[in-house]
Amino acid sequence: MLNIKIEKAKTLKQKPDFTKLGFGKYFTDHMFIMDYSNEKGWHNERIVPFGYIPVHPASTVLHYGAEIFEGMKAYKTADGYQMFRPYENAKRMNDSAERLCLPTIDPEDFVTAIRELVNIDYDWIPTAEGTSLYIRPYMFGNDETLGVHAVHNATFVIILSPVGSYYAEGLNPVKIIIEKDDVRAVRGGTGYAKCGGNYAASLRAGKVAAEKGYSQVLWLDGVERKYIEEVGAMNVMFKIDGEIVTPMLTGSVLPGITRKSAIEILKEWGYKVTERLLSVDELIEAAENGKLEEAWGTGTAAVISPIGNLCFDGVSHTVSDNKIGNLTQKLYDELTGIQWGKNKDSRNWCLKVKI
Ligand SMILES: *Cc1c(COP(=O)(O)O)cnc(C)c1O
Repeated sequence: MLNIKIEKAKTLKQKPDFTKLGFGKYFTDHMFIMDYSNEKGWHNERIVPFGYIPVHPASTVLHYGAEIFEGMKAYKTADGYQMFRPYENAKRMNDSAERLCLPTIDPEDFVTAIRELVNIDYDWIPTAEGTSLYIRPYMFGNDETLGVHAVHNATFVIILSPVGSYYAEGLNPVKIIIEKDDVRAVRGGTGYAKCGGNYAASLRAGKVAAEKGYSQVLWLDGVERKYIEEVGAMNVMFKIDGEIVTPMLTGSVLPGITRKSAIEILKEWGYKVTERLLSVDELIEAAENGKLEEAWGTGTAAVISPIGNLCFDGVSHTVSDNKIGNLTQKLYDELTGIQWGKNKDSRNWCLKVKI
């Protein structure tokens, strides 16, 4: 049970133009913080004005990268707001914590902390089409010594950012390049954990891809560099000859909540969905002989992101005429419809909060 102390900001910030938000550029007036030590457990839970966090120069996170995070969204509804499957994020945060020897958080406390913070900064939830309040809970190891060991002290923070559409171009198909040199994660490593270190390893390939005009990198597995894993910060799905194929969760793939939800919806719609190893050769062959009908990424930030072009070994392959495929569009409409409260939430995925 949390006993949150609240210190309200004395002056509130001027809100940005909610039609020109971009992603992760603006932050609300408050943030949630809570400290952990082996002796005291989680303590000093508080909501304070958004601002800098003092960190000791020897802090574990700065030297050894002990950091995990979550990403989720709140959507404005007629009488309050709703969040999409927040207990799934709570569970995944604990799975990530376990892998990085960080402390776990009671899922009820995790969701309560988010609710209390969003309630206070409710006016920051944008209403324009395609917008939402992005929620970023994160935790870092905060021991003030340079010794390498499992964390004794940690800090948990939640910040909020009103966001527009993830891609500047909107829901247009993106160009993807298949990366052959760098790998994001390996089995036995931290690929299934949502941790900052995975991103650090991915930046170089992302930079090179951007310079060549590609918006994301499609990662291959780190052992054989043969099997498709995921795309940038999204999971990936392909419609091949009528069937939906998505890489199985081998340990180096992040278990996305959008992925899981999309699989459930597609199966309900009667599609055959197969989670398996998919080699890049099989994928390129399908693209060449016209069997690759649609491709898309799934993730909280972009929800569903159509893929219009795949580049492998310097050869570029167009997917569904570089247009949004029918099923991709239908899936986007269904998922965002549930999240924005326009479609019936028959699976009871949304946590509704009345204001
Ligand atoms: C967060 C994330 C995803 C998508 O997960 P969602 O729960 O759907 O947002 C996919 N891949 C990586 C590497 C991620 O960090």
